[in-house]
Amino acid sequence: MNLYLVTGGSGLVGSAIKAIVEKGEKVDGETWVFLSSKDGDLTIRSECDAIFVKHKPTHVIHLAAKVGGLFANMSKKVEFYRENIMMNDNVMECCRIHKVEKLVSYLSTCVFPDKTTYPIDETMLHSGPPHPSNEGYAYAKRMVDTMNRAYAEEYGCNFTSIIPTNILCTPFTVWGSGTPLRQFMYSEDLAELTIWVVREYHSPEPIIVSVDEESEVSIKDVAMAVVKAIDFQGEVVFDTSKADGQFKKTASNAKLRKLKPEHEFIGIEEGVKKAVDWFVKNYDQARK
Ligand code: NDP
Repeated sequence: MNLYLVTGGSGLVGSAIKAIVEKGEKVDGETWVFLSSKDGDLTIRSECDAIFVKHKPTHVIHLAAKVGGLFANMSKKVEFYRENIMMNDNVMECCRIHKVEKLVSYLSTCVFPDKTTYPIDETMLHSGPPHPSNEGYAYAKRMVDTMNRAYAEEYGCNFTSIIPTNILCTPFTVWGSGTPLRQFMYSEDLAELTIWVVREYHSPEPIIVSVDEESEVSIKDVAMAVVKAIDFQGEVVFDTSKADGQFKKTASNAKLRKLKPEHEFIGIEEGVKKAVDWFVKNYDQARK
């Protein structure tokens, strides 16, 4: 009987996977366990091990991470590196020791090289340093990819990673000029495709999960979609004293499209509307 263990199950992506599983993605005989940090601190090896002993997972979706915006990443590089590297090392090693059949970990497109050509694809992950603003987080995440291959070579483990582009959920304050371009997808699209990866994608090489390149929009477009969705009548101010971050980081989803051509992504306006409705309903617990 399969037991799917989701680390970071109380977060943005974990909640979306939970919603999809509850909507009917669950197969008979499967058990899904969604963890939060209250179930154990994954930076501590003994606590991580106790979780594996308790639940005996056959499949693990590893979402737990120290995640933050541009400014937190710039000022706390040591913590972003150490906490992520410890969590990832503990989870991977526990998956090996407890003979987990499949581990899917999450990377991010912001861990790709800063100076690169576009579109970015899965082969370019290590071809240059990441943007200096998030190098602590980026190097910790890159090591997951390196170790997926090492665990496959040395122990025959079936470990892989997903590289998602930007995830639409809660609305945001518009920092910066609004001109940078990003590929946004609704969190439930990512959740559905994560379940597909854990079941059917069997290679240690990472896979970018993203909307098409043509669906790239500016931060301003997203802000305006939020304004429309909440019917905001006031003035929208772009605070250009705040840094913009990378101008663009267009990613290619050619590999995903080849393997899963039929997936239809939710469009930006509908995604923003769903995200705003969710935010209004869950205001108290939403990340602000
Ligand atoms: P969230 O910040 O929403 O959630 C983080 C999760 O990790 C929470 O469940 C949190 O538990 C858990 N967690 C944090 N520290 C620990 C710890 N020491 N021990 C155990 N659990 C811990 O993350 P997201 O859902 O946004 O992100 C999921 C994954 O996707 C991450 O790996 C992230 O790097 C990646 N990603 C996210 C993007 C985004 O835009 N959000 C973009 C690209 C990649 P608790 O709730 O109890 O604190």
